[in-house]
Amino acid sequence: MGNYYQPEIETMSVEELQKLQSERLAAQVKFVYDNVEFYKNRMDEAGVKPEDIKGIEDLHKLPFITKDDLRDQYPYGLLGVPLSDCVRIQSTSGTTGRRVVAFYTQEDIDVWEECCARAIVAAGGTKDDVCHVCYGYGLFTGGPGLNGGSHRVGCLTLPMSSGNTERQLQFMTDLGSTIICCTPSYAANLGEAIVERGLKDQIKLKAGIFGAEPWTEEMRHNIEETLGIKAYDIYGLTEISGPGVSFECEEQAGMHIQEDHFIPEIINPDTGEVLPEGEVGELVFTCITKKAFPLLRYRTRDLCYLTRKPCSCGRTHIRMHKPTGRSDDMLIIKGVNVFPSQIETVLLNLGYQANYQIVVDRVGNSDVCEVQVEMTPAMAISGMPIELRKKEIVKDLKSMLGIRVDVKILEPKSIVRSEGKAVRVIDKRHLYK
Ligand code: ADP
Ligand code: ZN
Repeated sequence: MGNYYQPEIETMSVEELQKLQSERLAAQVKFVYDNVEFYKNRMDEAGVKPEDIKGIEDLHKLPFITKDDLRDQYPYGLLGVPLSDCVRIQSTSGTTGRRVVAFYTQEDIDVWEECCARAIVAAGGTKDDVCHVCYGYGLFTGGPGLNGGSHRVGCLTLPMSSGNTERQLQFMTDLGSTIICCTPSYAANLGEAIVERGLKDQIKLKAGIFGAEPWTEEMRHNIEETLGIKAYDIYGLTEISGPGVSFECEEQAGMHIQEDHFIPEIINPDTGEVLPEGEVGELVFTCITKKAFPLLRYRTRDLCYLTRKPCSCGRTHIRMHKPTGRSDDMLIIKGVNVFPSQIETVLLNLGYQANYQIVVDRVGNSDVCEVQVEMTPAMAISGMPIELRKKEIVKDLKSMLGIRVDVKILEPKSIVRSEGKAVRVIDKRHLYK
């Protein structure tokens, strides 16, 4: 049994939880139909009336909404309350196109921060912890979300924001940070800096809460080892609130989705058909408590699967498996689907760090893909010929991906370190579109 921030909600029976979801869903559908013209029109077009949605079994009757809809409705088209009732905006990082702006009422912020507090407590956080938040602050939801959660738990909160690694390390050692929150790529970079400076003995970290970008199990092991911590995954997106939509418990076997606020579905991204538990598809969320920026059946473009298998932590909320990537992150190279996470797995299994980039281009009519990866300092002095290194990686990538990709081995420190979300893919083919 674990620690909970809101035990009565986090461990309520599935039956009770689904009853709560049904009540909230029916009320929320009526709320958006009455208050947001966009939803009224969409539902009228689909021939669905609010009274048709009595519970979660009716969810599939509602039309989907997409990121393009959000962009079309920018900025105020989806507001569920008067602007004067909104207290905050946040915005997506714009990883895959124009930014989306999301609005929050004070209650929306409270829910979001509670979700982050649940994640911090699940990672072992208490009021005695020093919580070092080095996600970016500002429009990006990472910093503000975890900051709010940390306050609610009562941790001593260090609002570091991202960047300035020297200052991060100084505060971490001087103030004894015990929990760190940032992107996994930045955690890896901090780990590298700690090892280089021989600071490991002066670090008191016990847990890290890492998310906002895909990361592999191999990367988790790497970070856990270098920082001497347990590394927890956290997932979220600005449109739905921010980080904390789901989070890992001590089992580290999928992230519990906060089902009292968000109802997940997995669909076939091509047909929209709802898939059974356990099948991989696109994650769709319906927010059942959000007021300022209400979203019904929002297609996230993230690919994963769900499981309702009981979890030994005692939480009853459904778990989502770590997203393998976004459907729009997936590269199609020579007709084969390739996820950056597959490449990361191969590289880390061969002892490399997550300092790599994937460059895709089109020469004539064919795709070419080059994986560029840095040697670790130890590799650089190991004497193993570069050609041999290359061969080894090409071979393992071929068996993982089924296609041959080129490999370029770089000297240590050649790839720019990320402070927020790492840029893994440079797809030059898009330049010619
Ligand atoms: P943007 O879509 O511009 O990056 P956000 O900053 O809101 O905007 O990022 C949300 C997205 O980040 C998610 O849809 C997902 O693709 C990715 N993401 C967030 N957390 C995780 C995680 N733990 N694992 C994998 N991907 C994640
Ligand atoms: Zn659990």
